Amino acid sequence: MDRTVYLNGAWVAEGDAKVSVFDRGFLFADAIYEVTAIIHGKLVDYPGHLARLKRSLDALGIAMPVAEAELLDLHKEIARRNGIEDGLIYLQVSRGVQDRDFVFPEAMEPTFVMFTQTKKVLDNPKWKTGLSVKTVPEGRWSDRQIKTVQLLYSSLRKTEANRQGYDDVLFVENGHITEASSANFHIVTQEGVLVTRDLSNALLHGITRGSILHLARQADLKVEERAFTPEEAKAASEAFVTSATSFVTPVVKMDGVTIGNGEVGPISRRLLDIYIREQLSAGIPVAD
Ligand code: PMP
Repeated sequence: MDRTVYLNGAWVAEGDAKVSVFDRGFLFADAIYEVTAIIHGKLVDYPGHLARLKRSLDALGIAMPVAEAELLDLHKEIARRNGIEDGLIYLQVSRGVQDRDFVFPEAMEPTFVMFTQTKKVLDNPKWKTGLSVKTVPEGRWSDRQIKTVQLLYSSLRKTEANRQGYDDVLFVENGHITEASSANFHIVTQEGVLVTRDLSNALLHGITRGSILHLARQADLKVEERAFTPEEAKAASEAFVTSATSFVTPVVKMDGVTIGNGEVGPISRRLLDIYIREQLSAGIPVAD
């Protein structure tokens, strides 16, 4: 791999991109991130990711590392420098570097990193087969609307589930599903209503979730934002997850129970198609 990485104002070869061991991102997971997909040279849902980046930074009291206009230019440039037509841009901002101390000063200089990953975003085999998921107890901290890098609990549960033959996990708290390890979870009832967890600090406010709900309403689907149980999900006619790199991916099995007829449902398929079509036309091109 010979990617060019952006690190604190400089373009560097990935092998030379080094962050201090005293960085609070490393010592305290005191950092937030965003992931933006690129399809056919277009940034997917960029304005939403920018808005959430600002909310996450505000919530932790970390300054925006660069001006907004520069951030968009950096997205375009990193895609161009790495020849990414289809893939993703990862960005992370940590509070910065200081001697290890639980207490941090008000003003610190953030550490800002961006890198790309090539991924065949539009060629996802799970769009054809659907996912098999498993419910597990919610065990993350309570401010899940902030997109922090403290992903250990999710990583441990997903790895465990993968080794047991599941594709992902669904977190359950007080009898209700919050979300998947790195995606929002939605069901379509037997009556054709799209039900998704309402927004709160219980879950990440997915950018793809927001766009899909908007498109669903435009397509005259009835949408309900409320908590729902694993039992309601197992009785659904369709289920799917949404995220920046998986878009709309069907879920066909939950705790071994088949959802609907076990195949990719028509509503999931239609929302995926509409979303791709919209982003291919409305996405911001990385080449000017
Ligand atoms: N929930 C969690 C916990 C996530 O990590 C993600 C993806 N990062 C999502 C939901 C989906 O959010 P988005 O659509 O903005 O990628």
